[in-house]
Amino acid sequence: MQLLRKTGAIRDGHFEYPNGLHANEYMQVQLAMRYYQHAKVLSVGLSRLLRANTEIRAMIPELSIVSPDTGGLPVAYGVCEALRAHQVYWADRKEEHGPMRFRQYLEQVPGEKVLLVDDILRSGRNLAELKRLVEASGAQVVGLAVIIYQPTPKTVDFGPLPFHYLAKLEGVYYKDAASCDLCKRGVPVEKVWI
Ligand SMILES: [Zn+2]
Repeated sequence: MQLLRKTGAIRDGHFEYPNGLHANEYMQVQLAMRYYQHAKVLSVGLSRLLRANTEIRAMIPELSIVSPDTGGLPVAYGVCEALRAHQVYWADRKEEHGPMRFRQYLEQVPGEKVLLVDDILRSGRNLAELKRLVEASGAQVVGLAVIIYQPTPKTVDFGPLPFHYLAKLEGVYYKDAASCDLCKRGVPVEKVWI
């Protein structure tokens, strides 16, 4: 958490998220991932948590590390390198609000063991869509791993899927401007894109 604050990845203030939530904290992991040494510390830390899990450890040689977009790639490659897992790939979107997809010829094999990796889990929408996409091809999602877990009142519930995170960010959330104490106190609000 210190490393994330020092690099400006965790910011205190008054923020409006794209889904309308207001909060007193904002997190942008990429600001910490700019520095290779920090990226290394964070992804090696996460890989150690994963390796400590006996089920994950047993499947490392055949494990695919899959990210919902390019934002999760530094973590995905860092974790893959530290674990010596089988491969890394990622999804993208042709249009900003279009469906998530994989590049042509990038297909899972039925039964492939897939660990979903991203820098942060906040709304969980991207990771939930990635999970559906991966499972549609007959691959098996074996877990979820992120650097930061930032639960909000709108976070998707992944049920019993094993979930690994390095740190948890517990901000104060308001469902909209009308119920926001920071708005009531006249604190200037910053809109965040992601
Ligand atoms: Zn507010």
